[in-house]
Amino acid sequence: MFDCLNESIVGRAIKNGIIDFQAADIREYSKDKHQKCDDTPYGGGAGMVMTAQPIYDCIKAIDPDREYLRIYMSPKGERLTDGMCRELATHDKLLLLCGHYEGVDQRVLDLCIDREISIGDYVLSGGELAAMTVIDGTVRFVDGVLGSCESHEDESFSDGMLEYPQYTRPPEFMGLRVPEVLLNGNHKAIAKFRKEQSEAITRSRRPDLMPDGKGDDR
Ligand code: SAH
Repeated sequence: MFDCLNESIVGRAIKNGIIDFQAADIREYSKDKHQKCDDTPYGGGAGMVMTAQPIYDCIKAIDPDREYLRIYMSPKGERLTDGMCRELATHDKLLLLCGHYEGVDQRVLDLCIDREISIGDYVLSGGELAAMTVIDGTVRFVDGVLGSCESHEDESFSDGMLEYPQYTRPPEFMGLRVPEVLLNGNHKAIAKFRKEQSEAITRSRRPDLMPDGKGDDR
C-alpha cells in the first residue's frame, strides 16, 4: 500500500536522501503459531480487535530507545491540521501505527503511544491511508524537500486562509479570460487582488477560518 510514497514530492525526498521511510509488517512479530494478530473483543460486540503482543514487540523492535514520536492513526485522535503537519516536521523520527478491524487493544496504546491523530470525521477500514496523509502533509515542511520554485508559504492554510484561484496559459480558454490584473505585471495590484480573492473564498467556504468567524451573510 505504501508504494505510492515513492511518487512525486515524497518520492523525490526519499530518493534525495532527505527523508527515509520504512514499513513494518506487524504480523511478522506475532508469537502465535499461525501469526494471528486479532481476536474477538472482550465484552462482546461485532468485529475483531488487533492484539497487543505483536504491536508491542514490533514497536519495541523499531524503537528500542524511545527515539520516535509514536502516533496511532485513529478517528478518535486530534484532527490533523496544517499547523500539526508543520510541528510534526520538526521531529526527527515518527512512528505511525495503523490499526485495522475494530482497532487496537487499548493497553498497547496506553503503553506505547504518545499521540493519536485523526484525518477527519469518518471511519476508514485501516490506518494506512491516514498514515500516508500525515506523511505527505508533513514531508513538505521538512527543509530541502520543496524545490526553489515550490513553496508551502502561499498555499491554503499557510496564513490561516484558503488560497486564491490560480490561472496559467493561455490567457483565454473556452471564452473565459484570466483576470486582467494578473496579466499587467503590477505586483502590488496582484497581491491586493489575491488577498481579496483569498478572503472571499474563505468567507464563503470556510467562515470558521476567518478572524471574525463570519461567513458571506455577515
Ligand atoms: N472502531 C474504531 C474504528 C476502527 S477503523 C472506532 O470506532 O473508533 C480501523 C482503523 O483505521 C483504526 O484503527 C485506525 O488506525 C484507522 N482509521 C480509521 N479512520 C481513521 C481516521 N479518520 N483517521 C485516522 N485513522 C483512521
